[in-house]
Amino acid sequence: MLKNKQLKGLEFNEPLAKYTTFKIGGRAKYFFVAKNEKELIKALMWAKEKKVPYFILGGGSNLLVSDKGFKGLVIKCQMSNVKCQNQNSTLKTIKVDGGVSLSKLVSLAAKKGFSGLEWAAGIPGTVGGVVCGNAGAFGSCVAEVVESIKVLTTYNLQLTTYNNKNCKFSYRNSIFKNNKNLIILSVELQLRKGNKTEIQKKVSEYLNYRKKIQPLNSSAGCVFKNIEIANLKNKNTLEIIPEKKIKGGKLPAGYLIEKVGLRGKRQSQAQISKKHANFIVNLGGAKAKDVIYLINLTKRKVKKKFGVELKEEIQYIGFR
Ligand SMILES: Cc1cc2nc3c(=O)[nH]c(=O)nc-3n(C[C@H](O)[C@H](O)[C@H](O)COP(=O)(O)OP(=O)(O)OC[C@H]3O[C@@H](n4cnc5c(N)ncnc54)[C@H](O)[C@@H]3O)c2cc1C
Repeated sequence: MLKNKQLKGLEFNEPLAKYTTFKIGGRAKYFFVAKNEKELIKALMWAKEKKVPYFILGGGSNLLVSDKGFKGLVIKCQMSNVKCQNQNSTLKTIKVDGGVSLSKLVSLAAKKGFSGLEWAAGIPGTVGGVVCGNAGAFGSCVAEVVESIKVLTTYNLQLTTYNNKNCKFSYRNSIFKNNKNLIILSVELQLRKGNKTEIQKKVSEYLNYRKKIQPLNSSAGCVFKNIEIANLKNKNTLEIIPEKKIKGGKLPAGYLIEKVGLRGKRQSQAQISKKHANFIVNLGGAKAKDVIYLINLTKRKVKKKFGVELKEEIQYIGFR
């Protein structure tokens, strides 16, 4: 048990805007950076003892933090170990901590000639956040390379290894997104032996493509999930959508937003990107309330015209 009620390194009233790619949000009442498993456990025990809610923060690249901030403890995961293993001549394993940045992981895999993560080049965030939201792009997603995950269950502080099936991965979803008692400590990824030059080339191509299609301003990436046609409730929608717009069984949310005339729509310093309509950008000094206004407006307009209920890909902190 943690006898000392102090948590060394605990910070107070820390502005969360600087920890999110949106650069939006109020302060965390308590803030702590966990550099290893032991520190993470200490922080969780502290929160339990003080009876304050906690939030696990990765790279803050998929979040909208309320202007009022978070009245609990934000734990920033910064566990940073990475180990590469040659399993055999074709299969390669990387064991990586939840706090490692995805960009570091993609570069390392490319340098080693391990293939399977090229699509992830240019996605910000940490391994924990990426696995939590089953991040993906260009028809691939992280679930395809996850072998197993070391998980900390917060209410009993037990360590468990989850295999891929236990993680219940689906489109931008996993068990970790729905159960906040589970923290991703480290992930074992299974990659394949590839040609270093070809891998590097693909990485550069994906990076360049992103620069072309995505805005460079502060944002949290795509605000809404694309629409899975198989789950579409109102099939009449399909009659007014050109078939060529549906790719891999999904209809891009950005297309619908564009069609309701909201591309470029501005609320104070927040704007629906002119370059990619599923991005909301912070032009400098935007508030969470401005982003919320644009989100609600978009949902209303898309529902009215297409009968489609857009669902957020971004996650909210501090709004309850
Ligand atoms: C410019 C830009 C482009 C983007 N492009 C893409 C894209 O192509 N595809 C895509 O899928 N996403 C994209 N995103 C969104 C975002 O980068 C990803 O969702 C990323 O995986 C989020 O990781 P993060 O570490 O920043 O998570 P955060 O935003 O910090 O947190 C997201 C969620 O993960 C949880 N979490 C974080 N770490 C852990 C952990 N160790 N254990 C348990 N839960 C944890 C948090 O509690 C929270 O619920 C983009 C974002 C931006 C800004």
